Amino acid sequence: MEWQPNDETMTWAKEHFASIPTGGIWAPDGAGVQYRKMEEDTFALMMMYNHPDAEDFHQKFMVLFTAAGYKVVEGDEYQVINPPMNADDQARMDIEQKQLLAQGWKCGECGYMLHECNLSSVEHEYVDTVDAPLSDGNTHTIEVWASKIVCGGCGTDIVMEPDDFHLLAGDEHFMQWASESAHYRAMPRHLVKQAADAGDTEVHLMGGEADGQKTPPWLWGLVCKRNAFGEEE
Ligand SMILES: [Zn+2]
Repeated sequence: MEWQPNDETMTWAKEHFASIPTGGIWAPDGAGVQYRKMEEDTFALMMMYNHPDAEDFHQKFMVLFTAAGYKVVEGDEYQVINPPMNADDQARMDIEQKQLLAQGWKCGECGYMLHECNLSSVEHEYVDTVDAPLSDGNTHTIEVWASKIVCGGCGTDIVMEPDDFHLLAGDEHFMQWASESAHYRAMPRHLVKQAADAGDTEVHLMGGEADGQKTPPWLWGLVCKRNAFGEEE
């Protein structure tokens, strides 16, 4: 029997497909398929895992696409990928897939490719502290941060989730932060050892604050190289 979406799913699908810009990608988490919106009313299948589950998802998505009024074609660069065998590899491949998608992100104002912007000038900024609800009814406090870059095409400030910036720019630009008086960069273990052996004093164990400012949560507990501004390295 053919799978049929319920009304709620249909409403969601229509809104969601319509909201994807032409050229945009739809890659539902864990489904092992990826589509690109080619025109107002057309999607192309770009990638599918060589796995019966992916085929099954694709058949269901075809029902959704068709019912929402879209054509689906096979993309020119359509590829079948052998899915990874274990959960770790699967997780790594999901991240690689997301990183790949991030390489296609563009400035909403002028269409300039975000990965071509000056990513080293990123500013990680503290926004707010909020109480997030937990499923057991309690709350816990989380700090909200934003990562800001400047569009290389039109000069607009582009503010994004730090996790999205991480996908876009990788560890090099993500695992660092500047206070008003110094720059901090997370150190790999071999450099921490070298610094310890050499008695380097510009090594900083990152807590919740540095130079009187809040520090990004993703650097907490890491050993960072500290370079004070206005001094030689
Ligand atoms: Zn721009």
